[in-house]
Amino acid sequence: LQNKNSWYDADKAHHIHPFMDPKYFDKNHVRVITRGEGVYIWDAEGNKILDGMAGLWCVNVGYGRQELIDAANEQMKNLAYYNSFFQSSTPTQIELAEKLATITPQGIDHFFYANSGSEANDTVIRMARHYWSIQGKPTKRIFIGRHLGYHGSTLAATSLGGMKGMHDMGGSLLPEFEHIMQPHWYTLGAGLTPEEFGLKAAKALEDKILELGADNVAAFIGEPIQGAGGVIDPPSTYWPEIQRICKKYNILLVADEVICGFGRTGNWFGSDTYNIKPDMMPMAKGLSSGYIPIAAVGFSKEVYSVLAEGGHIAHGYTYSGHPVACAVALANINLMERDGIVEMVRDDTGPYFRKSLQQLADTHPIVGELRGAGLVAGLQLVKDKENKTIFTSEEGAGLICREHCIQHNLIMRMVDQAMVASPPLTITRDEIDEFTEKAKIGLDLTAQHFGL
Ligand code: PLP
Repeated sequence: LQNKNSWYDADKAHHIHPFMDPKYFDKNHVRVITRGEGVYIWDAEGNKILDGMAGLWCVNVGYGRQELIDAANEQMKNLAYYNSFFQSSTPTQIELAEKLATITPQGIDHFFYANSGSEANDTVIRMARHYWSIQGKPTKRIFIGRHLGYHGSTLAATSLGGMKGMHDMGGSLLPEFEHIMQPHWYTLGAGLTPEEFGLKAAKALEDKILELGADNVAAFIGEPIQGAGGVIDPPSTYWPEIQRICKKYNILLVADEVICGFGRTGNWFGSDTYNIKPDMMPMAKGLSSGYIPIAAVGFSKEVYSVLAEGGHIAHGYTYSGHPVACAVALANINLMERDGIVEMVRDDTGPYFRKSLQQLADTHPIVGELRGAGLVAGLQLVKDKENKTIFTSEEGAGLICREHCIQHNLIMRMVDQAMVASPPLTITRDEIDEFTEKAKIGLDLTAQHFGL
């Protein structure tokens, strides 16, 4: 497979893509990405593209970081693989767990390794039910998630998430998963202030617990900011009220940090940004900046002490704590600490990014609102700004805008007629200017398309 044309043909002939309609390839060929450096990627046609999504919300330290490459190399040479089953550990597994305990929110201090966010969430489901069972409460099994929550693509993670399009594919979901409304003031909060709406959206959890009976509910799970659901940052009243309700009804609180973790919102974790005190915390993506698959679930002292009393933990993956993945994750966190990347997002590039996009949101005819925090953003596409009328999926403004952006060498993703962005956290002010200029061109051309 030496030349790009044979790649295009072979891809169509043999490769099944995630979240993709194969018929797309009847008209278009695949975009083959061959190289990355900093915030840029290059395709096989030689285009230099600004990666406004950091891959899939994950390449937090940018592409091509030698420290991570060296860490993988060294570990491969010393010990390419060993497991953490039957009372063994490897140095990088231990050192990463110790490091995670220093950067995760207070109280989280034990870590179980997995390979993806989906596996981390499967782990959460099994461990939470086990936790209640150990305490003589085996009926506490139901998980409450949210509409358009995304927690992964395994059967359990799909059931846990609130993505209707995913629920519709492949037949029955697992039982004992329920969903409540999104805390999205712009679309659901008519007549209420954001603060009033935050309380209303949290009350949906209380109503659901009362409907199901607290004795049947294991946990509530939410992303601090919903990512794949459209970058929905909740009003300030939402998380404190969710926290209070979980405590009142003795329900575990799980903060899915797969996107928000590792600096994305301007703090190490989204839980820090919203002052959430989770009982369990799945994380992945930014843990290794996507250089290698690794995930983890953080457990609070209290939850772990119950699990530890419960005897044999019958759960684990061959690659739980793969030593090479742990070495890369450790190098990634060390690099983030050394270069002050989280502080940079919090104090400099995050506010600059938001200011630039807010200007766009305030002035552009098809942008209804800016959402997000730090270096994760959503721009809602509307056809009537004053009346907050969102484009329909049939009108397809999001796809049109995404295409214009890519034609101008910018990757932004479209979610539910919102354009979302999550660039590498190493993005500079100049690169943010380039991002904003290109996003504006994409939006201008989309507005022109609709005569707006
Ligand atoms: N949780 C959240 C919040 C996510 O955004 C994702 C993936 O985008 C997942 C879980 C699933 O992670 P993975 O794709 O690594 O299984």
